[in-house]
Amino acid sequence: MSDTIKYILPEEKMPANWYNIQADLPKPLAPVLNPGTGEPIGPDDLAPLFPMELIMQEVSQEREIEIPAPVRNVYRQWRPSPLFRARRLEAALDTPAKIYYKNEGVSPAGSHKPNTAVAQAFYNAESGIKKLSTETGAGQWGSSLAFAGALFDLEVRVFMVKVSYNQKPYRRALMETYGGSCIPSPSMETEAGRQILKYDPDSPGSLGIAISEAVEIAATHDDTKYALGSVLNHVLLHQSIIGLEAMSQFEMADDYPDIVIGCAGGGSNFGGIAFPFIGEGLRGGRKVRSIAVEPSACPTMTRGKYAYDFGDTGHLTPLMLCHTLGSTFMPPAFHAGGLRYHGMAPLVSHLVELGEIEPRAVHQNPSFEAGLIFARAEGIVPAPESTHAVRTAIDEALRCKQEGKSETILFNLSGHGHFDMSAYSDYLDGKLTDQDYDHEALAKSLSELPQVG
Ligand SMILES: *Cc1c(COP(=O)(O)O)cnc(C)c1O
Repeated sequence: MSDTIKYILPEEKMPANWYNIQADLPKPLAPVLNPGTGEPIGPDDLAPLFPMELIMQEVSQEREIEIPAPVRNVYRQWRPSPLFRARRLEAALDTPAKIYYKNEGVSPAGSHKPNTAVAQAFYNAESGIKKLSTETGAGQWGSSLAFAGALFDLEVRVFMVKVSYNQKPYRRALMETYGGSCIPSPSMETEAGRQILKYDPDSPGSLGIAISEAVEIAATHDDTKYALGSVLNHVLLHQSIIGLEAMSQFEMADDYPDIVIGCAGGGSNFGGIAFPFIGEGLRGGRKVRSIAVEPSACPTMTRGKYAYDFGDTGHLTPLMLCHTLGSTFMPPAFHAGGLRYHGMAPLVSHLVELGEIEPRAVHQNPSFEAGLIFARAEGIVPAPESTHAVRTAIDEALRCKQEGKSETILFNLSGHGHFDMSAYSDYLDGKLTDQDYDHEALAKSLSELPQVG
């Protein structure tokens, strides 16, 4: 039996700044466009939705942005998060590779999402806002924002994709425990929701629809702003604390990753762990291979187009250049609800195009299989989303074994799976299928992408 090795950073070594990869890009991001005029939008266009501090972070070219003291104080409750050397997993695989993982499941909500929820709640509260509206798929983001809202005295309303609302009553209960309110989407509370229900009263909902509802509430209420849990530059900025801590922890371990892996829904936990390492390489330092892993049933980077698209189904958002399956694409149901989004973060998409990130798609059965191997070796049950990263880490470790190489692999364990045990039951009972996406529906959705000159 190999010993557990845990790298704990002392609190005073917690990063004082977030890292903004925009400062190190060899080619800048494409502008965000107004869908009506096709012209780049300015900070004022986003002011109805976000506080100015977050808008300025969205477009900032500064490499380091200070983490405000009240945010650091909340982070201290669970940060720095531990980095583990997965010695028992290495032994189980009989691989010469070294496998490390950063455990983001130790946060109060059980995932990496509070890293940005707390920051967003802070900046909104500071600008005098009293209410936030948002959407959630599987419920991870809704519960993270409800937690952050409780700390900064904000009323949080969450539009939750209806199928998940019905399937995951405990996530809803968690949001309500933190004082948030949770509405199944599509709902009758917004024009966007009413339009969907008029044509499809039994609509199961989607993340794209729920975003339309949450954005509409913020756009039509002066006291309410909108909060997004992934995709946007400021979200990836806040998540950079994961990779920055990992860099210090690798110094403690006297090691450095050859490969950095994260699962990718909107791209925030992947960007969070990988960008500090990619940035090091962009500045002329050590290069890593970074792998972003998406579900084969929602293959945004590996099967989508790199094009301007809306962030929501109701087309209320500006246009962003990103990998997309089209804003009307409905991925088949699978258990990693946090990975069922049609688009990818513009920053991740841009770095894929620049050849700095390798995208990869994996199915849910091999992912759950990897989740079980990991749980039986390391004791932690990964969230269904995180099992995609575990699968890829194991695959790379097995490749190392075949090639007789002792590479160093780092992956992000984005969350624990304690609210997803019914998915594990389905896997253990042999009830999970590896559905392919509907090729015709994807072709149709891609043919409907907005035309940008
Ligand atoms: C939401 C979520 C994801 C996917 O979102 P990203 O923005 O791509 O990180 C992954 N893992 C967990 C545990 C999540 O809750």
